[in-house]
Amino acid sequence: MKHNLKQSILLVDADSANQDSIRTALRDLDLEVVIADATNDVAQLVSHYDFALILLAVSPASLSPFETAMVLGNNERTRYIPVIFLAESEYVKTLFEQGYAAGCVDFLHKPILPKVLLAKVKVFLELDARQRQLEFATATIQEQNLKLEERAIRDSLTGLYNHNYLLDQLAREISLARRYGSPLSVFMLDLDFFKDVNDTCGHPFGDFVLNTFAGRVQKNLRESDIFGRYGGEEFLIILPNIDEEQAGMVAEKIRKKVGGTVFSNSRYRRYVTVSIGVYSGHGAEIDSVGRVIDFVDNALYQAKAEGRNRVCHHSAPVVGQYAGADEHISNMIGTTQQSQLTATVDKCRAMTLASFEAMVHSQTREYEVLADRNVFFTKVLDCLAKQLNIPEQLVHTFRRAIKLHDLFRCYINDSSLEIDGPLTKEQEEMLLDQPVMLLELTSMFDFFASERVILHAHHEFFDGTGYPDGLRGNEIPMAARIFTLVDSFVAMVAPVTKKNGKSRAEVKKELQKFSGVQFDPFLVDILMRIIETEDLFDSEREEK
Ligand code: GH3
Ligand code: MG
Ligand code: MG
Repeated sequence: MKHNLKQSILLVDADSANQDSIRTALRDLDLEVVIADATNDVAQLVSHYDFALILLAVSPASLSPFETAMVLGNNERTRYIPVIFLAESEYVKTLFEQGYAAGCVDFLHKPILPKVLLAKVKVFLELDARQRQLEFATATIQEQNLKLEERAIRDSLTGLYNHNYLLDQLAREISLARRYGSPLSVFMLDLDFFKDVNDTCGHPFGDFVLNTFAGRVQKNLRESDIFGRYGGEEFLIILPNIDEEQAGMVAEKIRKKVGGTVFSNSRYRRYVTVSIGVYSGHGAEIDSVGRVIDFVDNALYQAKAEGRNRVCHHSAPVVGQYAGADEHISNMIGTTQQSQLTATVDKCRAMTLASFEAMVHSQTREYEVLADRNVFFTKVLDCLAKQLNIPEQLVHTFRRAIKLHDLFRCYINDSSLEIDGPLTKEQEEMLLDQPVMLLELTSMFDFFASERVILHAHHEFFDGTGYPDGLRGNEIPMAARIFTLVDSFVAMVAPVTKKNGKSRAEVKKELQKFSGVQFDPFLVDILMRIIETEDLFDSEREEK
């Protein structure tokens, strides 16, 4: 179809004199006059041109022009092209009925009067021009509408689907999966330590990371997967027809792709990792939108709690590693309680290590080299452990130790890593010093070391008659002495087992009695002053 800006009309007339006179009459118009000698050519011409008008010569001798007009009138695409019949004056009246029945809009008498022709053609050109404007306006509006619709479902920063659209699509996919008994998986992704990215590299770089992240993830998805920005730095992916096993593989691939390549622009270079919560369901068992969102949220939360840069499945139970519990602990408390406590502590260890690892990972690539070595170390260790029958708890301790060792070396940028050949005396000293340094650094992660000291010594007496070690005076850590005094004071004033505690006078008497025996006299003096000035006794308040 020829969509010229210039308008065109078709003249179908075998009479060359007539062709010339019409062309001459219309020469001043900005118009292309296409001429056909016979109606045979009309079908082909209307498929190439967008005619504003067709002038069709008719005579009583041939039915062909009437048939042509009817064919045009019955064709969806050409039915609105006006057709004017040209007929010898003497026949016009006899052809009227047949002509209008065939769909013509007007008759022109031959020989044609140029002014009449010009006036009529102008009317139809004007109509055609308006029609074109209308079509153009309609197309523009439709285009704008499409853009608006698209914008309404897109996130402006990343171009991904937005929150509302994701929830609509999730509802749709859940109902499809239920209806067809097919699997469905959903991921919730959240960038790790993203606040730090903004804080250290600025918001624009943060935006850049979000965009690049979106691109990296998209490359690992199928066309049928629905990927969008759920909020801030949280993203949702709906994966129709993907079961739990496949979901695990896709999520793991995404996690590796995101964390494995540096995010860099002209100013900054940062490694950024992602945590992913996964839900997979099948057919009728798939829950509501709200519940599915809860499931992926919880799984994501678990991935964060376990240290980030990992994939957690909703259905996977939280299994802690049990380590380091001495036998006598299990004699004191039940094995279930012991397991719960050690699992809690182990989670803490795993989280700390993983957070430390993520931080080092984001700061230096050197850790990659050590990470490989770490894998090998663990393998050898596992073989040895098997042969020597080393308990599993101890193997985990070894594993954590080597990890900490490697992380510290990277973190403090230990140049001895690169030493090739004999060591200088200075380097040798530095290496010799390493165990001490590691001991001190590692003690930072000994979460309850200080608490342990206090609890261990809080039954020691100032005069040396307490237990377990019979420590005396300043041998007892100050923190333990404070704890003992406060603990005893609280027991006197608000005993757990009795309704009413001792009065102010009774407490003061008791404290004085045990000052220098159980309690540090220096601390007792201070507490006495506090007792005088502060409102600490419930019984007095009740009396008032
Ligand atoms: P976590 O590993 O626990 O997820 O830590 P986090 O720092 O990523 O978590 P938090 O939720 O505390 O921080 C999210 C940050 O994401 C805070 C917010 O400033 C940032 N953020 C949210 N939306 C945008 C955005 O459109 N652009 C940029 N640059 N930052 C954003
Ligand atoms: Mg985050
Ligand atoms: Mg977040």
